[in-house]
Amino acid sequence: MNSPTPEHTAALIERVGRLLSTEAHAEGLLPVQWEALRYLRRANRFSTTAAALTAYLGLTKGTVSQTLKALEARGLVKKRVNTRDRRSNHLSLTAKSRSLLSRDPLTATVAALDDLSRPTQSALDVGLEALLAARLASQDRQPFGQCRDCRYFARRHVDGSPHFCQLLKEPLAESEADAICFEQRPG
Ligand code: SF4
Repeated sequence: MNSPTPEHTAALIERVGRLLSTEAHAEGLLPVQWEALRYLRRANRFSTTAAALTAYLGLTKGTVSQTLKALEARGLVKKRVNTRDRRSNHLSLTAKSRSLLSRDPLTATVAALDDLSRPTQSALDVGLEALLAARLASQDRQPFGQCRDCRYFARRHVDGSPHFCQLLKEPLAESEADAICFEQRPG
């Protein structure tokens, strides 16, 4: 096989993106509505706001607001007052959306990735992560990486539970280490 050219790889990414987008018209939801539900499943407790979701999706406030309204109207998202900032709300999934996510159209792609060899899967993951980081940085957008890879993440900290966020001065549970965060900065 010839060495891949950047143009060839970009065309592959475009085609995969098109496939994912077509499949994401499922269960009566739009692709962006699925993305919002997946985001809320992965985001940590500091990042479940409309502003963070807007930054993650890179869409306008108006589009995200319409998306959330539609999800709320279907009983898939609920809001509660943000105790850290009473001008905004915390968003969360409902039992109905958690059940719906078990039929996420992205599952077919997850299964196809799982069928790849470990080295191929790993190389793809590393490559796509680097590409995404470069493209987001070029647009001055936040990376939304995992908490455990953040420069502010203090593992097994004395004030932690068991970890600690040195930026927000909050203890972090083990389960929060894998979540994605609005404030995340790679270590
Ligand atoms: S350690 Fe980083 S990613 Fe984790 S909560 Fe703090 S700022 Fe967010």
